[in-house]
Amino acid sequence: MGISLNQERRIVIIGCGAGGGTAAQFARKTDRKANVSIFEKGIYPQYSKCGLPYVISGKIPRFEDLIEFSEEWFNKAKIDLFLKSNVEEIDINEKIIKVNNNGKYIEYPFNSVIIATGAEPAIPPIKNLSQDGKFVKGVGVVRTIDDAKKIKSLLTPGKKATVIGAGLIGLEMADCLYEKNINVTVVEALPDILSNTLDPDMSAQIMDQLSEKIDIYLNHFANEIKHENGVIKSVSIQDRESGVINQIPTDILVVATGTKPENSLAKKSGCRLGKHGHIIVNERSETSIKNLYAIGDCTEYIDFVTKKPTPIGLGSIVVRQGIAAGINAAGGSYSLPNGVLQTRTTDIFGFEVAAVGPTLSCFESENIVTGKFNGFSLPEYFPGGKSISIKVLVNADSGEIISAQGIGDKAAQRINTFAGAVLGRLNIDLFKKLETAYAPPVAPTLDAVTLACDVVSMKLNRKKR
Ligand SMILES: Cc1cc2nc3c(=O)[nH]c(=O)nc-3n(C[C@H](O)[C@H](O)[C@H](O)COP(=O)(O)OP(=O)(O)OC[C@H]3O[C@@H](n4cnc5c(N)ncnc54)[C@H](O)[C@@H]3O)c2cc1C
Repeated sequence: MGISLNQERRIVIIGCGAGGGTAAQFARKTDRKANVSIFEKGIYPQYSKCGLPYVISGKIPRFEDLIEFSEEWFNKAKIDLFLKSNVEEIDINEKIIKVNNNGKYIEYPFNSVIIATGAEPAIPPIKNLSQDGKFVKGVGVVRTIDDAKKIKSLLTPGKKATVIGAGLIGLEMADCLYEKNINVTVVEALPDILSNTLDPDMSAQIMDQLSEKIDIYLNHFANEIKHENGVIKSVSIQDRESGVINQIPTDILVVATGTKPENSLAKKSGCRLGKHGHIIVNERSETSIKNLYAIGDCTEYIDFVTKKPTPIGLGSIVVRQGIAAGINAAGGSYSLPNGVLQTRTTDIFGFEVAAVGPTLSCFESENIVTGKFNGFSLPEYFPGGKSISIKVLVNADSGEIISAQGIGDKAAQRINTFAGAVLGRLNIDLFKKLETAYAPPVAPTLDAVTLACDVVSMKLNRKKR
């Protein structure tokens, strides 16, 4: 390509996922003259990974519908997008990246680089999961369009699927497979489902209804695959307490046990990495190396409440880091809040689940008071009210709201209200007085948000007496 550095600002972005694509847009908006280029090793421009389970279920018709920004879009925005371009090295001293562009070697100059290389599925040690370096037929993960296409191609009604991992993605997949008339079993090593999102008392509220539709084994490890001629037949799972082993007949096995950061370029460049290999970034999405930014699932930042490092794994955060990196790399100035709130949600088997802030198990020595309200989303006299549960966690010493969890009608919107409270470090005695909108067909005079706060405030005041 032979491009030499000139006066123009040259911003190179590695990876065209949610993070890289967003960073490019904001770099372009900030400096209209800058040269903004994205190098993506895959064949797709920016698409929504979060939509993958819903193409598998058929709710979204085609995988192509997930493409949020096409090659034409980037072209019009004057962002150079290079697909099939694997960046092999960032040479910090020479200020060039070295790229394998579909078999051709390219050197490309930069003033700043944004690493947005994402993550890879983390695969637990399950015997016989792979043969000759490839998954046995019937085994898959859900990270890319190609992964999801593979799973979709295996689905015919009546088949048996096992999902390993009962986090947000594992349960979204279980729901989507159930929608396709597949018999679904979920295996989870921990004693509860959704343990990063809900406290056990909250997740227990939906376990019974989930168990009517799918089989769930908690506290079980998947430890071996049985296959015939390279095609999966069953998975053996072991009870972590009793040691008893069960064979689950399985045609499709989906491994949804988290991710590991794609950090090889950052590592080679000498960026500071966290305990689990994530690139450490600050509120401006800067790494430990000047002019090197990093964003997304390959990074860690601090949690707003605990101030402990936390791996990034939510598209909502990735996009906001992308805004920061794009603006800062282009000469602007943008800082994220002092930590991530981890506001998260999903809809599984008809239950909207949402949370902001850490679950109770994340607090070791802090003095926490919790309060919970189970009720309805509309006044009792109005037809059509749906169940809603809200749990609030408050720091008993300061009275500050530190996290909240919700299940049921418009749980995410209600949790978004709490996100404002956590970010503003609001005291429970002020927040319980929040004036929420009321009309019988929409919401009651005192919303579940307020009533949950009342419960925790009463407990707190009793404790103080
Ligand atoms: C099934 C699923 C459902 C999800 N649902 C939600 C949800 O509902 N809400 C939510 O907030 N989050 C959700 N997430 C998480 C969210 O999708 C991720 O946090 C987000 O997509 C990560 O974006 P990223 O840009 O960091 O990484 P990625 O999207 O993984 O992009 C990284 C890109 O970098 C490329 N790359 C890597 N190395 C190189 C290299 N050396 N050279 C060139 N290119 C390279 C990769 O090919 C890839 O395209 C979900 C994730 C999945 C998988």
